[in-house]
Amino acid sequence: MENTQSASCKCGREAVYFRVQEGVHYCPACLSRQTERQFEKTVSKGKMLEKNDTVAVGVSGGKDSMVLLHLMKKLSEKLPIKLVAVTIDEGIDGYRDRSMAKVNEFVKAMDIEHRIFSFENEFDVTIDNLVKNDPSIKSCTYCGVFRRTLLNKAAREVSATKLAVGHNLDDEAQSVLMNVMRGDVTRMARLAKTSEHFVRRIKPMKNIPEKEIVAYAILNNIPYFDGECPNSFNNARRDVQGMLNEMEQKYPGTKSNIISFYRKLPTIGTESVPVKCTRCGEPAAHEICKACELLEKIKT
Ligand SMILES: [Zn+2]
Ligand SMILES: [Zn+2]
Repeated sequence: MENTQSASCKCGREAVYFRVQEGVHYCPACLSRQTERQFEKTVSKGKMLEKNDTVAVGVSGGKDSMVLLHLMKKLSEKLPIKLVAVTIDEGIDGYRDRSMAKVNEFVKAMDIEHRIFSFENEFDVTIDNLVKNDPSIKSCTYCGVFRRTLLNKAAREVSATKLAVGHNLDDEAQSVLMNVMRGDVTRMARLAKTSEHFVRRIKPMKNIPEKEIVAYAILNNIPYFDGECPNSFNNARRDVQGMLNEMEQKYPGTKSNIISFYRKLPTIGTESVPVKCTRCGEPAAHEICKACELLEKIKT
């Protein structure tokens, strides 16, 4: 949090945070309330949740997912929904096991059901083994695809009607730019919307900047694991993140502007009709899903 000694919050207390996008100074209590309001507004505007939903909450142990779980728990006191925390174990020693410890501690304290799903059980691979067998492998690609597939499967397994993930405003802006850099104009979101086999993914924190999530975690004593994945070197996303932070510093509002630009775009590309993967039965854009395609590649 930056130093704003001279400024005070609208409530009269000393301010600790300046929200550039609004031009308003905040004290800790008002900042927390602002984050909660933003969260609830996103949920209701996007009609993300309804009464009696069972929500699988993807929890990795990092700041985003732990704050998400905390905010969902708070919301469940007003809206009758059932929460199940779901963790994906990719098999990365010294990383996932340590973040998992944080998750275990937190779900116990909040009395939330917790389920763990591992790459090892599901795909018979671990990221550690993949990297060991081929140090040049782009493990982030495998990790991302497997995690996405397994999260969807996990959500179905716990009979969830919604799957909540902790993407924040920064993640959203990064994804837009990454799509631009890859020349990718098709939108995966459409696939998710049109297949009944997909549990609807919701991103209730997509309008909250990363900085404010960190602030919220600190102000509300939310534990989280701050380590970085040992395999994430040479990661394009991280480069984009650094560039965006620099741009935001120079030109405040850049991140939200990138997102609103993207949301205003008409949908382009051909309408792809999702089918069931002929191997595993999961939703797929083609005959074989991306996860099965990668598994095949590993074998050969
Ligand atoms: Zn205040
Ligand atoms: Zn498949």
